[in-house]
Amino acid sequence: MSLTAYNKKRDFKQTSEPSGKENKQKEPTKLSFVVQRHKASRLHYDFRLEMEGVLKSWAVPKGPSLNPHDKRLAMMVEDHPYDYKDFAGIIPEGNYGGGIVEIWDSGTYTALEDQGNAKDNEKLLLAGLESGNLKFVLEGKKLKGEFALVRLKDPDAKSWLLIKHRDSYATDEAYNSEDDTPRDSPINTWLAENKPGKKPVKKKS
Ligand code: MN
Repeated sequence: MSLTAYNKKRDFKQTSEPSGKENKQKEPTKLSFVVQRHKASRLHYDFRLEMEGVLKSWAVPKGPSLNPHDKRLAMMVEDHPYDYKDFAGIIPEGNYGGGIVEIWDSGTYTALEDQGNAKDNEKLLLAGLESGNLKFVLEGKKLKGEFALVRLKDPDAKSWLLIKHRDSYATDEAYNSEDDTPRDSPINTWLAENKPGKKPVKKKS
């Protein structure tokens, strides 16, 4: 897997995002996942799963859902470096993805059919990725239990659906990831301070 596309899109003299290196840890006992909330030209979520030392990545416009009825469009994007799982902050305007990133959820994950062997786990995940039917179990703070990413048969093969499986963590109630975001999260605070037309707050000396 290559981080060439990731590195090409970014100028690391300008952005504080991590430059593309693969995770050299040979046999991770637990693979990581992260969901970043990203206000760029549009607010969206980035869903990332660690595989083979990089983060396989999907942009999810509506964010993940815990309701199995929701099929959330997930557009596959370039692999991101492993260290990106810890990235939060401002990407300067004019740069790729310019705006602000915060970590919405993070944790570890395994293949649904995992038998507790780290090597087999990654093999199962890579096979699922290849076949366009990736089933996994998330252990996050917000996202827990079984999920699937299912590839659609579109010409460029970039469109997937992110679907919650029915289990004890699923809900039948309407789920909006925005409601599961603190009102004073870094992005929400930034948005409130940078509303178009809002005058900068002048502090009294
Ligand atoms: Mn993004």
